[in-house]
Amino acid sequence: MNLEWHNKHPMPPRPTLEKRIEWHLDHAKNCACRPIPPTLKTKIQSLRKSSGNQTKRAT
Ligand SMILES: [Zn+2]
Repeated sequence: MNLEWHNKHPMPPRPTLEKRIEWHLDHAKNCACRPIPPTLKTKIQSLRKSSGNQTKRAT
């Protein structure tokens, strides 16, 4: 578990769906203590289909 990352990125108390997705995507890149919930994954996929021009890629 990436404690340093978690300390810097606490989950907001009442996150919007957008915030949760953002958090989980960021989390998945930095830590693997828990997977992205399947319901959220589905949401992410449908969002990606509708808006194809997301250039948020960390190289
Ligand atoms: Zn984690």
